[in-house]
Amino acid sequence: MAAFKTLDDLGDLTGKVALVRVDLNLPMKDGSATDVTRVEAVKPTILELSEKGAKVLLLAHFGRPGGKRSSVLSTSMVVGDVEGVIDKELMFIPEVAGPVVEQSIGILRNGDIGLLENTRFWTGEEANDPNFAQAIAANGDFYVNDAFSAAHRAHATTEGIAHFLPAYAGRAMEKELKALDAALGSPEQPVAAVVGGAKVSTKLAVLENLVGKVQHLIIGGGMANTFLAARGVDVGKSLCEHDLTGTASKIMDEADHAGCTVHLPYDVVVSKEFAPNPPSLRTCNVHEVAEDEMILDIGPGATEALADVLKTCRTLVWNGPLGAFETEPFDTATMAFARHVAALTQEGSLISVAGGGDTVAALAQAGVTGDVTYISTAGGAFLEWMEGKVLPGVAALEA
Ligand code: ADP
Ligand code: MG
Repeated sequence: MAAFKTLDDLGDLTGKVALVRVDLNLPMKDGSATDVTRVEAVKPTILELSEKGAKVLLLAHFGRPGGKRSSVLSTSMVVGDVEGVIDKELMFIPEVAGPVVEQSIGILRNGDIGLLENTRFWTGEEANDPNFAQAIAANGDFYVNDAFSAAHRAHATTEGIAHFLPAYAGRAMEKELKALDAALGSPEQPVAAVVGGAKVSTKLAVLENLVGKVQHLIIGGGMANTFLAARGVDVGKSLCEHDLTGTASKIMDEADHAGCTVHLPYDVVVSKEFAPNPPSLRTCNVHEVAEDEMILDIGPGATEALADVLKTCRTLVWNGPLGAFETEPFDTATMAFARHVAALTQEGSLISVAGGGDTVAALAQAGVTGDVTYISTAGGAFLEWMEGKVLPGVAALEA
């Protein structure tokens, strides 16, 4: 893992101004947040800097205002939610740079926290305009990035600003980078990767990166159908990207070449209609899917085989559910697999890292959120990391 500075590298911060990039892009309903997980994630960094005597200025984007002010997309909308989580008062500052910020810093006492306006009200943010980044940096003594979820974007407050100030990873960023490194950077081997979810087309780059890195590539969910089709299986009415069977074959060839075993289900759960507990529900061998049936989950035999694979592995990285888990009983394999991962992790035989919107939801549904090694809620940034890409916001922190 490339070296980066953390809050441990900061000395006495009395009176210093910290510019801290956080993710406060909270899901809102009727003027308040429906989920404050993102605030909880950055709370340790904010409080630590505050306790060390810094004046903490939070930088965040909120929605997509497209480079102009919008009253409903002001970060002032989340002040109450943030205060509720960190249990401290925030000063809202309706600018990100210039004299208003400077005057506000004069009013803040050491340890106080200010929230700057939505960085995306200015076109310079998404354009990564160095003049904009420099103007923000002018009011700070150092920069902390605690928003891994925004690190795949080279924006002024996620990347550009690091060129003007000493840059540090916040606690949440540090935790995420360490967990991801333990999963794919320098993992304990053998490593298994699960790639599931709906479509191959959304995860081609992920698959291509993984075949060269892991010993076991487990393919589940709708995308397994495309791989099965590539192997000559008739998948009936299943979700399947027939135009990508050539690509799927190529990925399987590359895996063979790299010594990576690709695991596809050999039994599946099928139905004629996509509805909860449909009358036409049955389990069959992949070669027995009728032309009016669709595959909605991997079968019990395949699930058990995957459990056996996991027992031989030291590390698992997981993105994408194994079936259409939102609809019963097509959650069966995903739930069983999640519980198995949790049990092996708790026994200490497996390091498990999972991410992706639906994967996080599936783990919560299985009740194992606290029992896996690390869950990334970073969405797009997590997927780009799985693709093996260098994330600009992370690269900018490298010492
Ligand atoms: P993530 O958000 O974790 O990256 P994806 O968005 O790629 O995951 O995929 C999740 C979606 O894939 C879920 O909505 C799930 O219902 C769907 N899915 C999984 N298996 C199947 C299947 N066999 N047929 C249709 N949809 C499926
Ligand atoms: Mg999804």
